[in-house]
Amino acid sequence: MTETITARLLIIGPPGAGKGTQASRIAERYGVPTISTGDIFRANIRGGTELGRRVQAVIEAGELVPDSLTNEIVEDRLAQPDAANGFLLDGYPRTVDQVHALDGMIGGASLDAVVLLEADTEEVVARLLKRAELEGRADDTEAVIRHRQEVYAEQTAPLVELFSERGILVAVDGLGSVEEVAERIASGLDARLAAPTGR
Ligand code: AMP
Repeated sequence: MTETITARLLIIGPPGAGKGTQASRIAERYGVPTISTGDIFRANIRGGTELGRRVQAVIEAGELVPDSLTNEIVEDRLAQPDAANGFLLDGYPRTVDQVHALDGMIGGASLDAVVLLEADTEEVVARLLKRAELEGRADDTEAVIRHRQEVYAEQTAPLVELFSERGILVAVDGLGSVEEVAERIASGLDARLAAPTGR
């Protein structure tokens, strides 16, 4: 018997922890679309759209795109029919303001679970430097990579506490093979989604 469950999910963690790779696994497992603000911005930069032109410099500097603009983009995306029965957010919300905006968008219904992909800063910096070298991304300098980690620590890490207080946090060790991490996430999420929410 297959039961249809609504899964409103979020994956959060420092840049370079492997969120994108794990996001596609999770989305497939629960049959929900992945909504990645980073992907939306990058597609717009590649396509040379007005939005792309507005955000390019900010993204290349490792800063955050302003909340109002980011919130607007997510609101439009969540209104599309494929998100009606759930979604996996990747890279949004990233600030307290964005959490409140999202709460408003989903009509006071909370997220069902938040996967925190934990990874050591030096480990992720090393991974990102290697990736930049392999992909020839000269703009991904060590300074920018480290700045993104600082922005995460200052603006995004505080959200973890907030989701923990809401009782929806699933913390997973991000160290290991893609398969190992995917299994940890799947068992953590299955347990969380089966648990009574008390809402
Ligand atoms: P990501 O691929 O999620 O690391 O996103 C790449 C870049 O896009 C980030 O470094 C930010 O500049 C920008 N970005 C993505 N998501 C957000 C967000 N929720 N709020 C502000 N900026 C974002």
